Amino acid sequence: MKRASENKEFPYASKFVCYFEVFPDGTVAEISNDVRAVEPAFQRASEGTVKIYAVLPERYVSSLYEIDDINLLADAYGIARPDDHVHDISWKLSSIDDGRSSYASVEVVFLCGCKVTFDNIRKIAADLQRQKGWIMATSTGISCNYKPGGPEEYILRIRRSSLK
Ligand SMILES: [Zn+2]
Repeated sequence: MKRASENKEFPYASKFVCYFEVFPDGTVAEISNDVRAVEPAFQRASEGTVKIYAVLPERYVSSLYEIDDINLLADAYGIARPDDHVHDISWKLSSIDDGRSSYASVEVVFLCGCKVTFDNIRKIAADLQRQKGWIMATSTGISCNYKPGGPEEYILRIRRSSLK
């Protein structure tokens, strides 16, 4: 069995990962790839009641993984965890924003050093909703401007009516 934390590419949020939890009496229960199922399983795992495993279909064989760092799973599903920090961000409307679409294009720099990746975009969206009231689109991918020597600037799609 492999450890998920040792696979930097482990696609926690992928629908192709089959998660299950094992209870102390040996009972096994599948966890659907849905935050409503993952969140209670994460709570049980963080209390030490269950262990979470996953089957990851790979090119020729499927591999069994232990989800040894459950915070990575929580991040992928946008589940708040106790050690949540408050992001320090600066933002402005992007020059590509048209000023009227329901989702605005916003340039965001995370002064706190956080990065937005495919795996944590739902956590970042949940954080920004909690901390700033922003409603962020998570299905449009991630665009990032790299300027030599400058900070990483993400273009996030934020519902205009939630911007303040
Ligand atoms: Zn941060």
